[in-house]
Amino acid sequence: MALINCERCGNLFNSLNGQLLCRECAISENNDLKKINEFLLCNPNATAEDASAVTGVSRQFIFKLIKNGSLSIKKQLSNPVKRRK
Ligand SMILES: [Zn+2]
Repeated sequence: MALINCERCGNLFNSLNGQLLCRECAISENNDLKKINEFLLCNPNATAEDASAVTGVSRQFIFKLIKNGSLSIKKQLSNPVKRRK
């Protein structure tokens, strides 16, 4: 067992298998992931910004999911779509 600070909330917790998040944050990240996945199922062309606005999940977390491969969002905020006039 190792006492470390949770990556998300900063609380000290016992990391059993090299987890970076405390129990509560792990659960809430799971819920957030579920919410975003459900949203993307219905809105496959949504941007990270849309997903964040609708689900209430932070964009930072959505980008983290995209980075680690848990999510695939077609258009990312870092590549703004050019609007046709
Ligand atoms: Zn935490």
